[in-house]
Amino acid sequence: MNSFSLADCTSVDAALAQLKNGAVIKAGGVDLLDRMKNGTDQPTRLVNIRNIKELRGVHATDQGLTIGALTTLAEIAADPAIRAHYTVLSDACGHAATPHIRNVATVCGNILQGLQCWYFRSAQFECIRKGKDQCFAFSGLNQYHAIMDYGGCPSVAPSSAAVALLALDAGIELVSASKGKRSVAIKDFYVQPDSNPHRFNVKAEDEILTAVHIPLPKAGTRSAYQKYGDKESHDWALADAGVVLEMDGAVCRRAVVTMGAASPVVRRSAEAEAELTGKPITMETARAAGHAAMTGAMPLSMNAYKVQLFPVAIYRTVLLAAGQMDRDPGAAG
Ligand SMILES: Cc1cc2nc3c(=O)[nH]c(=O)nc-3n(C[C@H](O)[C@H](O)[C@H](O)COP(=O)(O)OP(=O)(O)OC[C@H]3O[C@@H](n4cnc5c(N)ncnc54)[C@H](O)[C@@H]3O)c2cc1C
Repeated sequence: MNSFSLADCTSVDAALAQLKNGAVIKAGGVDLLDRMKNGTDQPTRLVNIRNIKELRGVHATDQGLTIGALTTLAEIAADPAIRAHYTVLSDACGHAATPHIRNVATVCGNILQGLQCWYFRSAQFECIRKGKDQCFAFSGLNQYHAIMDYGGCPSVAPSSAAVALLALDAGIELVSASKGKRSVAIKDFYVQPDSNPHRFNVKAEDEILTAVHIPLPKAGTRSAYQKYGDKESHDWALADAGVVLEMDGAVCRRAVVTMGAASPVVRRSAEAEAELTGKPITMETARAAGHAAMTGAMPLSMNAYKVQLFPVAIYRTVLLAAGQMDRDPGAAG
């Protein structure tokens, strides 16, 4: 690991003043320190924001919910209001990583975590996402990689929280010393590798994420998230799904189906949503949604199993959201 200096800040203004000349933010530090130990990131200055109290906590407003950037995954999972009204987020945060990591990892650090492609994470491989012109995953080990929308880079979206936040139409609040405050919908936050392989999201280097805002759910809304993986815990998803159903009696008025670990950017499946919208939620409609979500899938040499795993994940998560199935004991986390 390279040597670096550390600026401990207790206010957003103090952190913004330190955020220059290549300095980077450290929140929980779980992902950042991993990348520094791998040698893929070598910042010479860290700006520690972990002690900024104004960036912590969950606040209900008449517009919805505001979650401070430094709120941990464990705090979100344990919050009774989130559990009751934004279950998809509670489930996603409560089943990410491990209990120890969830106690340290922050919601905004989670959505900003780096790609989990092992070629990207190794200092020995200079790939397309690091400014070169080659991807090693297409002809290499690609069992954990994308099956859709990958263009020139099949690394997958790693953030469990982002799968839920996309399903909830969340917005992200950012602030910088040069431009002040702005808000970006999470659907516009991540950058597809096809449009720019060297950018991962629209955050500028001098910006800090301060909060996540989630609009109030409409009456009759139910939701759920489930993650499937190699291991019960201690690992990212091979396939995960977020489902939000706005129910009008027995009929689904609006459905949102999101997927992580399928593509480089968390995605909604319009095809799956169409199979649920305007219909009662049954085993048949849930199964049709799972299969429809695989429209356009182009698995790589070692990951065709995901084309079978995602339909199961979506089918079971739709039924869980609808209250027709218990949480799958085979799900990870
Ligand atoms: C074994 C293991 C299993 C895991 N499994 C999962 C899983 O299943 N699901 C999942 O989602 N994650 C998983 N993770 C990843 C883990 O959840 C993330 O590393 C963690 O959430 C990152 O949060 P953090 O607060 O530590 O971020 P940090 O490491 O502090 O920061 C991450 C990045 O975000 C930037 N950053 C952080 N906060 C801000 C801010 N407010 N403003 C601007 N920039 C900021 C940092 O500069 C850095 O680039 C796993 C990790 C491990 C080690």
